[in-house]
Amino acid sequence: MRSRFLTALGSLFPPSRLLIQAAELAPFESDALTAFRARPIAVVIPESKEDVIQAVRLCRDHGVPFVARGSGTSLSGGSVPVAGGIVLALNRLNRILRIDPARRIAVVEPGVINLTVSQLAARHRLYYAPDPSSQSICTIGGNVAFNSGGAHCLKYGMTSNHVLGLTAVLPDGEVVELGGESLEGAGPDLHGLFVGNEGLFGVALEITLRLLPIPESYRTILAAYDRVEDAGEAVSRIVASGLLPGAMEIMDRLAIEAAEAAVHAGYPADANAILLVELEGERAVVDLDFARLSEVVRLSRPREVRVARDASERLLFWKGRKSAFSAVGRISPDYLVQDGVVPRSRLGEALGEIGRMGRERGIRVANVFHAGDGNLHPLILFDGRVAGALEKAEELAGEILRLCLRLGGSITGEHGVGMEKRDYLPAMFTPTEIEVMHRLHRAIDPKGLSNSGKMFPGGGAPALTAHGPHPLERAGIISRE
Ligand SMILES: Cc1cc2nc3c(=O)[nH]c(=O)nc-3n(C[C@H](O)[C@H](O)[C@H](O)COP(=O)(O)OP(=O)(O)OC[C@H]3O[C@@H](n4cnc5c(N)ncnc54)[C@H](O)[C@@H]3O)c2cc1C
Repeated sequence: MRSRFLTALGSLFPPSRLLIQAAELAPFESDALTAFRARPIAVVIPESKEDVIQAVRLCRDHGVPFVARGSGTSLSGGSVPVAGGIVLALNRLNRILRIDPARRIAVVEPGVINLTVSQLAARHRLYYAPDPSSQSICTIGGNVAFNSGGAHCLKYGMTSNHVLGLTAVLPDGEVVELGGESLEGAGPDLHGLFVGNEGLFGVALEITLRLLPIPESYRTILAAYDRVEDAGEAVSRIVASGLLPGAMEIMDRLAIEAAEAAVHAGYPADANAILLVELEGERAVVDLDFARLSEVVRLSRPREVRVARDASERLLFWKGRKSAFSAVGRISPDYLVQDGVVPRSRLGEALGEIGRMGRERGIRVANVFHAGDGNLHPLILFDGRVAGALEKAEELAGEILRLCLRLGGSITGEHGVGMEKRDYLPAMFTPTEIEVMHRLHRAIDPKGLSNSGKMFPGGGAPALTAHGPHPLERAGIISRE
């Protein structure tokens, strides 16, 4: 059966684009959450949408599971292969098919890198707004599957707000066009349904993106605080003032130290937290808002305030923030990233609690997060070579998620459910809500071939190479019984 399938695959793809040797498959076994691993039986490298369609139809005919993969930067195990299945590595589908400045759209293949869209649109003074910190490596296909966010999604919304339409091959091999080229459409929002499906509804082949005019003016403030809670309170004050900045991000002392060591962003070395706030838009409006923002920030009692003097200083402020995840690798051999959300009004409280919980356990936690959205990214530092260190880090991770739920938030903001949190959906949704999702899933993929086992609870035992039960189990939020 398996060899018949591989032979048929071999008639579609030349050996250079059909990987079957163990050494060739190894790089595809996991994504950025390396705790989960599975070996596919093959990786195919399509070069056209017809290649993808043929591969999916072959999988359908042989009942073989498949997983679409962009750059593999998922932090939730979303692009981990399904055992016994194949991976469709989409990086060569990286053409920007059309940029239409008059209609302010770009039509792209799924393997296009997020940042490339803005780089090419810039010649028309346009850009693509969603900006994950991974934007220089992650693909639009991955962004669509996870409804990814980024620092500037506070003002402009997540990926779902910027996808106008798409062409996809469904798990049964049928090719559909959903949505179109404008915001107005008749009938249900089917392309909206596809965005955030985590690869369960088939493979996006072409995506029509909304482009925005590059803002005329930016003003970027960096405020330094003695306490991270004060930075959190400053965010609540800014929101309460009615201002809508393009981005509001917080980094705590450890994250500052790491970013400084990595990219020398010039952050105040003695601050316990920094808040980055960026206003953008028409110059006259930005200037007015800047005066108000300066006053609100002053009232939050920062120890220091800096305003980016020019474009290069602004980019340096952001470089420090965007490199923070990878920079933390400089101050700790290992770390776990959490993606919980709390209501913005409770940010200060959440941060204080996380600090206390970390101190109590003697674990260092670096906080770097999309403060405007209340989307926390605590990085729990540990040394995997020390016996029991991972388990202690996981326990703390579970406590933090429990805290997020207690404060009225969510277990994920933008990294998706993937494999990591799939058994924990019941902590967020009622059985009825989960059943509705199941019905939709079954209707679109009755054989369960497309990225099967992800997102939904009970999707089969995860190949968890980290030790012991999940932090949420330990925290008593869920049980696998
Ligand atoms: C350092 C770092 C920083 C990050 N910062 C952010 C951030 O600020 N915001 C944020 O939201 N995320 C962030 N992430 C997470 C990650 O980059 C995003 O989830 C991103 O969208 C994944 O893109 P990818 O191309 O790597 O997709 P992959 O990891 O390859 O795949 C992700 C999911 O998309 C599916 N998929 C891929 N292509 C397609 C397709 N064509 N059709 C259907 N499904 C498809 C896969 O099956 C999988 O389920 C970060 C990750 C890292 C490592």
